[in-house]
Amino acid sequence: MNTKTITQLFSRTYAQSREKFLSAAHSRGLAVESYELQLKGAEGEALATDVVVDGPLDASRMLMVISGVHGVEGFTGSAVQTGLLRLELPKPDDTAVLYVHAINPFGFSHLRRVTQENVDLNRNFIDFGSNLPQNPGYEQIHDALLPHKWPPESDEVLETYRLEHGDKALQKAMSIGQYTSENGMWFGGKAPTWSNDTFREILRKYTGQTKVIASIDIHTGLGPYGYGEKIFAGHDHGIFSMAQDWWGELTNVHTGTSTSVPMSGPIQTAIVQECMNAKHIGICLEYGTYPLERVITALRADHWAHRHEMRMTAQGSAIASHLKDTFYPDESEWQLKVWQQAEQAVVQALNGLAV
Ligand SMILES: [Zn+2]
Repeated sequence: MNTKTITQLFSRTYAQSREKFLSAAHSRGLAVESYELQLKGAEGEALATDVVVDGPLDASRMLMVISGVHGVEGFTGSAVQTGLLRLELPKPDDTAVLYVHAINPFGFSHLRRVTQENVDLNRNFIDFGSNLPQNPGYEQIHDALLPHKWPPESDEVLETYRLEHGDKALQKAMSIGQYTSENGMWFGGKAPTWSNDTFREILRKYTGQTKVIASIDIHTGLGPYGYGEKIFAGHDHGIFSMAQDWWGELTNVHTGTSTSVPMSGPIQTAIVQECMNAKHIGICLEYGTYPLERVITALRADHWAHRHEMRMTAQGSAIASHLKDTFYPDESEWQLKVWQQAEQAVVQALNGLAV
């Protein structure tokens, strides 16, 4: 694909992203199944998670490409999915590619990282029937993260926490996930969200025959600008070394080598739980945008607007559009890098599946 074709994969709104994805599927003659969410988008449009299978429905090997787990990060994953449909990469025999487009369509359209339930979907795949994970650190900083006034007059409480416990501990308290403050940040929910239920329904429907599943879940916002970090979040050492054979250099949330801390309840949990007969080799492809401080501040502002019911104000819209710019740089250089690395990761996964 040339530069222009690549940059045209990237859209300005959820509706436009969806339309490009659907039209790429249609022009390939591929069926689309839409899981509609009964809420409206930011421009009054319908919201849905769209699923496309490219390849035999009974294939025993599958590559799953997921976009929009973190709503606003979906612009990037969607562009990659549309590009892959257009590109029509050769697949090994008995292999299908399953596209799950916009698994959190509300956050995507309304420019939030979280779902309509204010839930971080990657913290929602836990067992709500047993004791919920504890994160006392978060409770200590909740009010300081989302104070009455924005921007805050001082971040003294957070700075004190950082001095006492260290940088990594602060990042962990903030982002590992919390189950106590419903209007807070990195909230894991009180129950499985619509997106959680929908993702499980998709897995049950499309992966019954599958023996090996590779997954690439596309995210943005952490790491160096334009660099696609391949993050492994599983626990199995054998699978980790297999993933390293496929993709080369990987970071691992459990050994502290990744920009992301381990998280409670990531979406990959569902693949392991719902696809009991399949081996799962999955990564997050996390593209860096801007420095972490900017990313955190933009997220705090977004949650501040939510907590204090300021989203519908002029300040609220400015905050939403800043969040989008922070997670989704409007620059062709960034987009080209994103595409090249995604294409490479997909080719690597298909080669891995072929063995
Ligand atoms: Zn993300």
